[in-house]
Amino acid sequence: EAKTAGRNAVRFFDPAMQAILVVRMLMESNLRAALANNQFQLHYQVQVNADGKLIGAEALLRWKHPDRGFTSPADFIPIAEETGLILPIGKWVLETACAQLKKWEADPDTAELTLAVNVSAKQFQQHDFVDTLCDMVSRHQINPTRLKLELTESTILDNVDATTEKMHLLKKIGIAFSMDDFGTGYSSLAYLQRLPLNQLKIDQSFVRDLSEDENNATIVRAIISLGVNLGLNVIAEGVETKAQRAFLIAHNCYAFQGYLFSRPLPQEGFLALIKEPASNDT
Ligand code: C2E
Ligand code: MG
Ligand code: MG
Ligand code: MG
Repeated sequence: EAKTAGRNAVRFFDPAMQAILVVRMLMESNLRAALANNQFQLHYQVQVNADGKLIGAEALLRWKHPDRGFTSPADFIPIAEETGLILPIGKWVLETACAQLKKWEADPDTAELTLAVNVSAKQFQQHDFVDTLCDMVSRHQINPTRLKLELTESTILDNVDATTEKMHLLKKIGIAFSMDDFGTGYSSLAYLQRLPLNQLKIDQSFVRDLSEDENNATIVRAIISLGVNLGLNVIAEGVETKAQRAFLIAHNCYAFQGYLFSRPLPQEGFLALIKEPASNDT
């Protein structure tokens, strides 16, 4: 028996587990180096309304290593969150987004666009988050009403009182809030009504099989009418087909984001897209 217990005690060092730990440690030191060596970029994905008018963009973080190329945020954000590196990375994202908004303000083609930025739970829960962001807004001299923060249901519900208070403070200076990946979490209707939200963002998993899956169609319709009844605008993410867009428009969805309109683009590509002569194709 003692032998078995002994073996259990060293199970930590089994090769599969060790491989996972090594990958994490490597990822952590690579992420640190990435910050120091300017390997992060923001890409921008357009958001359009039902008339096809460009109304804004979502900033999406990209990590481009000189040898390994792009790593998906789905692979590195969770590790950045676990290690706390999401704090300096998240600051870089907000700082870069503010600088971008300032540039957009100077160009009539982009001056009206809003920019949505993803903020992770750990980042939003920092006690100095509000001060840090207010400081950035004033340093960059941007119009805060163009800035929108995307929070997930779990970020908000994790610590609902503190989060709501921060949201109110930021809303006071004009910053807007969108609840990202809506429908995948556990928000109660009572919370939804209390939160100072501007937008619900329907998770792309519900949009994906809209035309084939009657359940998803029902969920999407319900989310839109919920949002409308709460006085929120509703945006759908992951819109890839004209059929999806048509369904969403028919059910009064306010705005759309997805490959049908454009993939996320580096800022030069994004500008080129904005300045492209309007087409009635999509
Ligand atoms: P998200 O905020 O829900 O972003 C939407 C994701 O869907 C993005 O993936 C986007 O590229 C992708 N997408 C957009 N349109 C379509 C479409 O039509 N079809 C499909 N299949 N996908 C589409 P991405 O860029 O890989 O980001 C993944 C997640 O990583 C984001 O999900 C967000 O949770 C996180 N993330 C990205 N940037 C940041 C950031 O700056 N900070 C934080 N904390 N998280 C970020
Ligand atoms: Mg998002
Ligand atoms: Mg989302
Ligand atoms: Mg998501």
